[in-house]
Amino acid sequence: MRDLAGVLPDIEIRFGEPMSAHTSLRVGGRVRAMIFPKTEAELSFVLRALRERGTDPLLFGAGTNLLVSGAELDIVTVKTAPGVGEICLSGGGGASVFASCGVPLARLAVFARERGLGGFEFAHGIPGSVGGAVCMNAGAYGSDIGSVVRSVTAIAPDGEISEFSRDECDFNYRHSAFSDNDYTVLSAIIDLFAENSDNIRRNMNEFAERRRAAQPLDLPSAGSAFKRPPLSGGVPVYAAALIERCGLKGFGIGGAAVSEKHAGFIVNRGGATFEDVIRVMERVKSEVFRQSGIELEPEIKIIGGDGKWMSL
Ligand SMILES: Cc1cc2nc3c(=O)[nH]c(=O)nc-3n(C[C@H](O)[C@H](O)[C@H](O)COP(=O)(O)OP(=O)(O)OC[C@H]3O[C@@H](n4cnc5c(N)ncnc54)[C@H](O)[C@@H]3O)c2cc1C
Repeated sequence: MRDLAGVLPDIEIRFGEPMSAHTSLRVGGRVRAMIFPKTEAELSFVLRALRERGTDPLLFGAGTNLLVSGAELDIVTVKTAPGVGEICLSGGGGASVFASCGVPLARLAVFARERGLGGFEFAHGIPGSVGGAVCMNAGAYGSDIGSVVRSVTAIAPDGEISEFSRDECDFNYRHSAFSDNDYTVLSAIIDLFAENSDNIRRNMNEFAERRRAAQPLDLPSAGSAFKRPPLSGGVPVYAAALIERCGLKGFGIGGAAVSEKHAGFIVNRGGATFEDVIRVMERVKSEVFRQSGIELEPEIKIIGGDGKWMSL
């Protein structure tokens, strides 16, 4: 594996890097290698080089939606955020922004605000990257990335690069075409609108205040652990409310616990292991099902000890 350094000269590679240092939950074992491309061209080159060696890498952005096994992981990972970080205004009427996959959403939101472009305030407090947000169709406060994306450029496993229109991205609640296909998002063009920067700042501050009031931002987490279940008789149902109703607020195993502040978050209250988090999630899932008949589906993406995506 160390010969990778020869195949990818000038691109940073760390061997035996702990995933816990790269996930917001602060959980995850050491991986065989972690590669840090700095441009889209480097990222494409890395993916092609790995593919030619028969290596299927785990690609991630800011690691804010990941739960990773604490085992030694025999995998190669590629981390795009914040390295693959180009951002600029995108042609036309000047109300669109081009952003590479590793750009943090907060940076994009501030970039837009400074140019008097509104419509991205909702994403300012989401700690992920553009690539992760497109993959997950991240959203908050009544908007999501799927509503503002004009197009996405992505690279297929065979190395071919193509552009997807918003429709082709198939955005749904916390889901996009990139949740299921093996493409890597390289960049996105975001359509915004002219807005007074003071209004944008006010919106951002209001959203930040709502987050601080509602979410356990002082403890490591991966955001909402479970997706919002489908409407029940036309009425929205929230995972956090279901979990709270089951009396599970504060319920913990080892270092992992359902947040006291927001029952939708599972927090690392110190030294949580992968197994702790999984056991808390399993207990929440089974108790909610027992008491309400509603099956919760994880929003967090889980990587098991074999280095493969797993379900709960
Ligand atoms: C405190 C906190 C608050 C949060 N609040 C919200 C919220 O309000 N709304 C919300 O939707 N989410 C929220 N999240 C969850 C998370 O920030 C989002 O899902 C975010 O979009 C994930 O981006 P990421 O770069 O961290 O993705 P990662 O966690 O790195 O990866 C998530 C998934 O995306 C895939 N992926 C990453 N980059 C790419 C790429 N370039 N191409 C293809 N696939 C890719 C990964 O393989 C993985 O399957 C929150 C998380 C935390 C910790």
